[in-house]
Amino acid sequence: MGRVALWVAVGAAVALLLLTSATAGVVSSVFGGGGAGGGAAPISASGWARPVVGTAGSGFRTADRPGHDGVDIMAPKGTVIRAASDGVVVRVRCNVGGESWEPTGAPMPCDSDGYPGLGGCGWYADIRHAGDIVSRYCHMVRQPTVTVGQTVIAGQPIGRVGSSGNSSGPHLHYEIHEGGNNAVDPVPFMRQRGVVL
Ligand SMILES: [Zn+2]
Repeated sequence: MGRVALWVAVGAAVALLLLTSATAGVVSSVFGGGGAGGGAAPISASGWARPVVGTAGSGFRTADRPGHDGVDIMAPKGTVIRAASDGVVVRVRCNVGGESWEPTGAPMPCDSDGYPGLGGCGWYADIRHAGDIVSRYCHMVRQPTVTVGQTVIAGQPIGRVGSSGNSSGPHLHYEIHEGGNNAVDPVPFMRQRGVVL
């Protein structure tokens, strides 16, 4: 009802524009993605968005950390983490010290901050996107707010920044996998899709 009233108010020309440019990315950009207070990330023309607003930390597979399969984005604990693109949640787990569990509803080891050397992604989620691409979001402060099988759109909140698992402080560890389990550097991957991390 509200949307109908709005469309009447803004006039047929705008309504037609919205209808004729009907992709999820365009529509969610027009309506701002619904992010209250946290500054919803703009969605690029190719349908991708920054997963979190923050500053660059460790890079992808650096000389010091050749096994670091993602990039670290430093942000305060509690900062909203958003789906980088439209997709389906395919994994939600707590991963510490070489063990991994699905959420049980009871308190779990990932509810506490971890530390370097503990190992693991902490609370994390994986989202599968078109083209056999999977994005991963690690070290959340609490259980992700999405569940396996849930459809999400670019920019949709999925959890909050924390320091669970193998982590020295609050940040998002962000991975991109292409064609199965092949981790690629998220920085050029995102840049090619119109997003600067
Ligand atoms: Zn990392």
